[in-house]
Amino acid sequence: MSVTRDPFLVCDRQSEAKLFDVSRAREEFPILKQEIHGKPLVYLDSAASAPKPKCVIDTISRFYAEDYSNIHRGVYELSQRSTRAYEDVRAKIRRFINASSEREIIFVRGTTEGINLVAQSYGRAHVGRGDEILITEMEHHSNIVPWQILCEESGARLRVAPMDDRGELELVKLEKLLGPSTRLVEVTHVSNALGTVNPVREIIEMAHQGNVPVLVDGAQAVPHSRIDVQDLDCDFYCFSGHKLYGPSGVGVLYGKEELLENMRPYQGGGDMISSVTFEKTTYNRLPYKFEAGTPNIAGVVGLGAAVDYLEEIGIETVARHENDLLAYGTERLSEISTLRLVGQASCKVGVLSFVLDTAHPHDIGTILDQEGIAIRTGHHCAQPVMDHFGLSATARASLGLFNTTKDIDSLAGGIQKVIEVFR
Ligand code: PMP
Repeated sequence: MSVTRDPFLVCDRQSEAKLFDVSRAREEFPILKQEIHGKPLVYLDSAASAPKPKCVIDTISRFYAEDYSNIHRGVYELSQRSTRAYEDVRAKIRRFINASSEREIIFVRGTTEGINLVAQSYGRAHVGRGDEILITEMEHHSNIVPWQILCEESGARLRVAPMDDRGELELVKLEKLLGPSTRLVEVTHVSNALGTVNPVREIIEMAHQGNVPVLVDGAQAVPHSRIDVQDLDCDFYCFSGHKLYGPSGVGVLYGKEELLENMRPYQGGGDMISSVTFEKTTYNRLPYKFEAGTPNIAGVVGLGAAVDYLEEIGIETVARHENDLLAYGTERLSEISTLRLVGQASCKVGVLSFVLDTAHPHDIGTILDQEGIAIRTGHHCAQPVMDHFGLSATARASLGLFNTTKDIDSLAGGIQKVIEVFR
């Protein structure tokens, strides 16, 4: 198959963007209205976790104050209300990512749990000795370790598609690694350490030629772009609520219905059964088969509020705003001669990862913190990415919809201070 670059949904939908008033948007985030070490907070760590808008905080608080009870169980009014609120969010998420049925939307704790669910349920049933699982060099640890565990258990082999020094996947090599023994492919939609947007639609097409299912880790893509799982034709897609301006402890696993239907439950417990005797248990229908025990009910409700919030602004509007900021940030940081940007893919979102000649990333982070600037430093749970670049860590500024060019100027100014300290 010839390899052509596949436009990512974030790139080709920006014409749908509306006017965006970032100062008004900032007003929605109470946490931003504070000083840190006597300086106004500049939050540049949304890739780790995004701040929450007031509507999400208020929805959770109102839900606990007025409607909260356990779901799917009680005949009484509060339980019915809670169940309705929870299931309404499932319908909302289905629309948000354009799944074909609510049965394909499984609420989990986050991306990590979604991936582990697929590894332990689909993986255990379909992967055996001598089989291969293909991942990429730019995966987050949560899309590496569950597959290593599965390989240890099954005797399968983990293959890794490489990236180049710009931080782009080498698609020709990836395609060559797909073979008759490949049972599953896992790829991140957007790299958390580099911001690279991967051509997942193209990768899915390649894998499907050999009938190999593909799991897409969408943790870093969903907050920045319109996701359409039917258009991508992915088999599984996972994301976390907390990176999407929603609460932590909740996320979504999308899976094609026919695959989920044939998968064994991941965990056993209440709500995932249809009947239990000591002789035999039968499982509940989708999606409940995969939601054992009392879920994060208020978390799901909060996630629904976050999706409403984003849809109100327009995800295409967010994408365009962040894209402009990324271009501005790339330019500002490129002016600093002792700074090296790590990850310069042609299609990127939301992330400026960098190192300085003279200061360790942890020192950069500590000095920036004194300036009120919150960035992430370390290996970003992507040690193989660090290894590729011969680094142990980078400093990473990541963008949210509330960031401004002023935030980028503060970052550039803070970096100059670091350079002066370590001169
Ligand atoms: N994949 C990617 C690309 C991520 O950035 C993250 C979070 N840093 C995860 C997976 C794991 O997400 P969570 O911790 O919310 O499960």
